[in-house]
Amino acid sequence: MTSVRQIRHLVRGQATSDGAGVKLTRVIGTQQLPQIDPFLMLDEFRSDDANDYIAGFPEHPHRGFETVTYMLAGKMRHQDNQGNVGLLEAGSVQWMTAGRGIVHSEMPEQENGLMWGFQLWVNLPAKDKMTAPRYQDIPPQAIPEIPYQGHHVRVIAGQLAGAIGPVQAEAIHAIYWDIHLATGSFNAPLPSTHQAFIYVYQGSVSVEGRQVERGQLALLSEGEQIRIDAQTDARLLLIAGQAIREPVARYGPFVMNTQAEIMQAFADYRNGNF
Ligand code: MN
Repeated sequence: MTSVRQIRHLVRGQATSDGAGVKLTRVIGTQQLPQIDPFLMLDEFRSDDANDYIAGFPEHPHRGFETVTYMLAGKMRHQDNQGNVGLLEAGSVQWMTAGRGIVHSEMPEQENGLMWGFQLWVNLPAKDKMTAPRYQDIPPQAIPEIPYQGHHVRVIAGQLAGAIGPVQAEAIHAIYWDIHLATGSFNAPLPSTHQAFIYVYQGSVSVEGRQVERGQLALLSEGEQIRIDAQTDARLLLIAGQAIREPVARYGPFVMNTQAEIMQAFADYRNGNF
């Protein structure tokens, strides 16, 4: 008998700003929800007022984890000190492994119109924190969008019904699905080894009898299956990964295991060793 995941915890994000003054909603990485191991942060940015996003995220460093940007609308330009440039447009994903260190900027490539997307921070285990930086820039057409039980799913990472997501995230065996639900239910297997949550960004759904509204994250209990029901069209992210279960020392853009490693990150950055 397989067990169906229930809702363990429901949270709503908090309005905040980051970068040079970008308004966003922080869903993971707040006092209320500091992390869902291995996920350290989830931000949703959505605004059609350029004042909310135009300042962008000028040059800043990262070490010890991965940043994952998924765009629903608008354009962002990512640029770094390793010579990489990526233009993220609607439907694209950038999965960036900061590893031992990068310095990058994330700036809007538009002066008006809707900017809508997500940034997820994925932790790395101690053995991978000082790995070489790596980029996976994935254009929209490289992400399989499959019909599934009457719904549509964009498989960004992980596998569903034979579709394989283009992202490689071996450390945590990530699953990242963008699910467009029609009325009815959605059933899928989810490895019992994975921590999993859903974030509803349009409409509302229910999971085992509990309602999840737009802007709410539902942390799921352990189990082997997920069942989601929708009364009307709804859209959500389903994200899962293997917990790392190591101490987390984080300060701003650095996420390591110990305070000494954080101090080292600051020293290395100051000395231009990124
Ligand atoms: Mn960044």
